[in-house]
Amino acid sequence: MAMQERYDARAIEARWQKRWDELKVFATGRRPDAPKKYVLEMLPYPSGKMHMGHVRNYLIGDVYARYFAMKGFDVLHPMGWDAFGLPAENAAIKDGVHPAVRTAENIASFKAEMSSLGLSYDWSREIATSDPEYYRWNQWFFLKMLERGWVYRRFSKVNWCTGCLTVIANEQVKDGRCERCNSPVLDREMPEWAFRITRASEALLRGLDELPQWPERITSMQRNWIGRSQGTEAEFAVQGRPERIGIFTTRIDTVFGCTYVVLAPDHKLVPALTSPEQRLAVEAFVAKMAAQSKTDRTAETAEKEGVFTGAHALNPFTGQPVPVWIANFVLAEYGTGAVMSVPAHDARDFAFAHKYGLPMRVVVQPPAGVAPDGTASTAAFTEDGTLVDSGPYTGQASAPARKAMAEALEKQGKGRPTVTYRQKDWGFSRQRYWGTPIPIVYCLNCDPQRKGIPVPEADLPVKLPEIDTQAVLTGRGAPPLAKVPSFLHTRCPRCGGPAEREVETMDTFVDSCWYYARYLSPHYAGGPFDPAQARRFLPVDIYVGGPEHAVMHLLYFRYWCRVMRELGLVETDEPVTRLITQGIVNGPDGRKMSKRWGNVVQPASLVEKYGADTARTYVAFAGPPERDFDWSDEQVEGAYRFLKRVWTLAVAHQGAATVTHPGPFEGKALEIRRAAHKCVKFVTEAIERLSFNTAIAEVMKCINALYAAEALSTAAEKAAMAEAIRLLALVLTPFAPHLADEIAAAYGAPRPLVMEAWPAFDPALVVDDTIAYAVQVNGKLRAEILVATTADEAVVRSAAEADDKVKQSLAGKALKRVVFVPKRLINFVVAG
Ligand SMILES: [Zn+2]
Ligand SMILES: [Zn+2]
Repeated sequence: MAMQERYDARAIEARWQKRWDELKVFATGRRPDAPKKYVLEMLPYPSGKMHMGHVRNYLIGDVYARYFAMKGFDVLHPMGWDAFGLPAENAAIKDGVHPAVRTAENIASFKAEMSSLGLSYDWSREIATSDPEYYRWNQWFFLKMLERGWVYRRFSKVNWCTGCLTVIANEQVKDGRCERCNSPVLDREMPEWAFRITRASEALLRGLDELPQWPERITSMQRNWIGRSQGTEAEFAVQGRPERIGIFTTRIDTVFGCTYVVLAPDHKLVPALTSPEQRLAVEAFVAKMAAQSKTDRTAETAEKEGVFTGAHALNPFTGQPVPVWIANFVLAEYGTGAVMSVPAHDARDFAFAHKYGLPMRVVVQPPAGVAPDGTASTAAFTEDGTLVDSGPYTGQASAPARKAMAEALEKQGKGRPTVTYRQKDWGFSRQRYWGTPIPIVYCLNCDPQRKGIPVPEADLPVKLPEIDTQAVLTGRGAPPLAKVPSFLHTRCPRCGGPAEREVETMDTFVDSCWYYARYLSPHYAGGPFDPAQARRFLPVDIYVGGPEHAVMHLLYFRYWCRVMRELGLVETDEPVTRLITQGIVNGPDGRKMSKRWGNVVQPASLVEKYGADTARTYVAFAGPPERDFDWSDEQVEGAYRFLKRVWTLAVAHQGAATVTHPGPFEGKALEIRRAAHKCVKFVTEAIERLSFNTAIAEVMKCINALYAAEALSTAAEKAAMAEAIRLLALVLTPFAPHLADEIAAAYGAPRPLVMEAWPAFDPALVVDDTIAYAVQVNGKLRAEILVATTADEAVVRSAAEADDKVKQSLAGKALKRVVFVPKRLINFVVAG
């Protein structure tokens, strides 16, 4: 099919999208015997309109999906919808449209935008997490995990968002406010369901060592979040009382310097330990702390405050009494809720002791060479060192002392070496409508303590009821599902008596824990997915998404993969081999794109004006995928001009498409072939190393070289040019697939290029046959010359001596000797 003069991107793109569809070119399974590649982008929440961040996310996946298909892999590249969640529910409250209706509309428009970008998804595998056929398996997982004790009901202090009217995760609280709606977050004591994710803390931590292809910043965030610390548990007896205060410390080597002990204000021993004289002050302080959010009062910058309880604890090593305080910086739910304070060797304890006039006792000295500050008058010495004033441990180094002291405590039954984790169990109860119902009933008869009775597996799914949006969603107080009698009232699966359903729904992060496995067999009814397909396609080879998911989704779904392995569903511990986190697309002003700044660029308007290939090429060219970049209209124009140049070149040489030449190729024809083959080599390597911008830059360079070849006269030249254009179309396929297919068709390609093989380059054509030599005179650089790679000293010398600058430098001087370093330099040593 002949190409038109004009590059009409919209018409070309519509035509090829239709053709790809008809031929089902993106369907997985075309090469059942080939090795697989599973390329995945984080499934989006279907908001109304796509933004540029989405385009970047999907383009990275699309480049790899197309590239691997051409490399001969059986590629799985699916897409679906993270359809549950608060935005749909909040929009429903605002507009009175049911969340399911709004979500379906949004999915339709989002999908249309994806298709207009030419993204290569196998849509036969599309899923939506709000589909009962999907979320029934969330419920199934819940039941399996409940059976094994990996899910439990607990009363706990939760983060209650006063805006969203639901519990939110610790990870969603930023400076005491809700990350999503910025409303204040309060502590509330509530029953909730939790996943026992901490049973896998150690495994999740160790697993990070097996993920060399994850960005270091993500794995280090997960390491910090899990927060393993090796330390010692120790018990302090209380003077004149039977209670014992358990503490955890990583620095038991400083225990001889402990001058007070601090409890959390809500530590369970506080009422018992408080002396009558201190009771008023303690109660006032406890009340004050209860009114503050935990994140606020323990913030690094928060002023440290506390109050004395009147009690004294006994140091387990010396038996000496130290005062017991309560303070804002200790939390009941972290560690044991109590700490031993060593102001001479801990910065926070130091500040607190200064403020309240508590004593300091130096028990660790810096190693020799560092001036000791035996008085600890200006700051705490917090490093390891040599123990002083520490009884039998005096003179030992910190590390061996820690081991010896922990063992001594264990012998006396006063403690033990131990490991703690900062990571907490994952509370996932949400008091909202638009989520997966938790499959539990409470029987008035046989479950008076409301522990919860699991819904039998055969009765799944527990479906979300139809509701009157306004009546159910807009009222405050009880969770929405409590206001739907047809849902609430049911029969007890045990005794058949009247029972009530759990009215909470699951955190939507449950939905995204295992969705990647559902794509393998999206309509499978025998389980969450077909294990045979899992064996073929898991783990995911490349996963693309935003770095903001580092400690929630990316940690939760790593845990879930282990759960699935324990349940015998998968054979891998880790869900994803290579993680790519894409950078942000900022507005032209360098600020985050936002309605507030009026700097939002809509992908749809870009596609409208220039076409999808320009949008894709621009985004790929704007910078390395993992870095942020600022939007630039000029660069969009630049990308468009570049594609037009490719187009015009291909149009100009259409006549050469049928020319053949058996070789050999020389002169101009050889140069054309060399330019094209070098380009293939470079682009291949650039895609492999995630450097899309340099790949495009190389194609631009090659196009310039082909333009420079100008009028072609011989068959060899024409055949070389046709080959070059075919090769360029192939390597442009991941970036500008519509343009590439249109050109290739005009040059005789029988089918879309994504079905063709990725081009190989001829190694003989990519070897540089010239080499640069530095020419020096008395060690000073005078010139650089290009000679044949095979040139020997004599050839290099005569070429160097022919250079004008070198000639000048040598003129009238006596040559003493010549230093020759093969492939690098030649140096003339002259007298005077
Ligand atoms: Zn909120
Ligand atoms: Zn019952």
